[in-house]
Amino acid sequence: MTYIKISGDKKLEVPKDPTIGYIEGDGIGGDISKAMILTVNAAVEVAYSGEKNIVWEKVPAGEESFKETGKSLPQDSLDKLKKCVVSVKGPLTTPVGHGMRSLNVTLRQYFDLYANIRPVKFIPGSPSPVKYPEKMDMVVFRENTEDLYAGYEWKYDSSEAEKLRMFLSKELSVNIPNDSGIGIKPISKFKSQRLVRKAIQYAIQNHRKSVTLMHKGNIMKYTEGAFREWGYELAATEFKNETVTEKEYLENPDAYQGKIVIKDRIADNMFQQVLTRTDEYDVIATTNINGDYLSDALAAQVGGIGTAPSGNVGDVYAIFEAIHGSAPKYTGMDVANPTSIILSATMALEYIEWKEPAEIIRNAVNSAYLDHKVTQDIARYSNVKPLKCSEFAEELIRRMRKVP
Ligand code: NAP
Repeated sequence: MTYIKISGDKKLEVPKDPTIGYIEGDGIGGDISKAMILTVNAAVEVAYSGEKNIVWEKVPAGEESFKETGKSLPQDSLDKLKKCVVSVKGPLTTPVGHGMRSLNVTLRQYFDLYANIRPVKFIPGSPSPVKYPEKMDMVVFRENTEDLYAGYEWKYDSSEAEKLRMFLSKELSVNIPNDSGIGIKPISKFKSQRLVRKAIQYAIQNHRKSVTLMHKGNIMKYTEGAFREWGYELAATEFKNETVTEKEYLENPDAYQGKIVIKDRIADNMFQQVLTRTDEYDVIATTNINGDYLSDALAAQVGGIGTAPSGNVGDVYAIFEAIHGSAPKYTGMDVANPTSIILSATMALEYIEWKEPAEIIRNAVNSAYLDHKVTQDIARYSNVKPLKCSEFAEELIRRMRKVP
């Protein structure tokens, strides 16, 4: 097998037959991953006529791996993901309130995949709860490794929580009720700035108009507020020629044509802005927990979580994944919508700079949706006959190959 190499300056060297890792995922993961691989292989074949192809390497994780090895994410799987550099992942089930730590969080931290990137764009033909879903074309950059997802959390009756409560009371005169669980929300300058840097670089490369820093800094001044300050500071120092603050821009718009406008919004306002002034927002850079809520809310605005893709990207390693969970009730029924994982794999193709098959897949998805060739989650809103998950993949492949 040939693997993607990482050059000295952290650039990817992609062979003609790169090995891409895939985690099938729990629940509906089996069905949607199969559909994704068939679709991507067909697009690569159509684009490159056999000159390039992907070798898929299965990476065990989740329930299947636990049954076989007693571990949900064995070291061998982490080694495989590392070797592959770029991977695509199905959803993994996480128990609520007890048991193991989220495998998703573990993966993001292990590979330092600090940017969760979620493009949200309306696919015409999708059902939407809003009047003008076509106004949505945003890309959320959500910090992935700190904030509340850092995992520093202690149960209310643990000795650690007790120690913390005592420390806070004694040293800082902060009195927390004895029956409180405690979580810590660390937000650092380095991690905030590398996230904002990625968002601005993306905005420059993709000719976007603005980057909005979303935060709750009016209340959490030294975490969320600092994120905002560090974001503006980075833009002003590293991207002085390419960016302008919203304040400067509004004072003299003509002077700053073509520059990326850096603005900020408080999180609660942001939630109503994306509904009421959808087309005024473009790239959004935000802290972990804000981004968690916002990205699903945006996805819902354009037709639900079955369709929106995502990527977890670091300086070189990247894992692209469906944004939805394992939807256990549909396990093995071949009815789930594979669009999210297929478009996530499309982001992986773009990441390795295979733009042609990525374009072919997007066109096939758009035309299938326009013709109401969709799975049940979409079909139920427009009273059309739903396709099964596997049939949807076959439909996309027919369209790519232009088979009537
Ligand atoms: P979920 O798995 O996303 O499913 C919630 C509902 O969304 C489903 O019942 C279904 O709605 C719809 N849905 C999601 N994906 C779909 C698809 N591809 N096609 C059609 N419908 C889809 O959320 P959950 O039930 O909260 O979470 C289940 C498990 O997944 C949990 O253990 C959670 O921790 C985990 N999870 C994993 C990830 C990840 O791996 N990145 C992300 C989120 C959640 P209807 O019932 O209306 O048909």
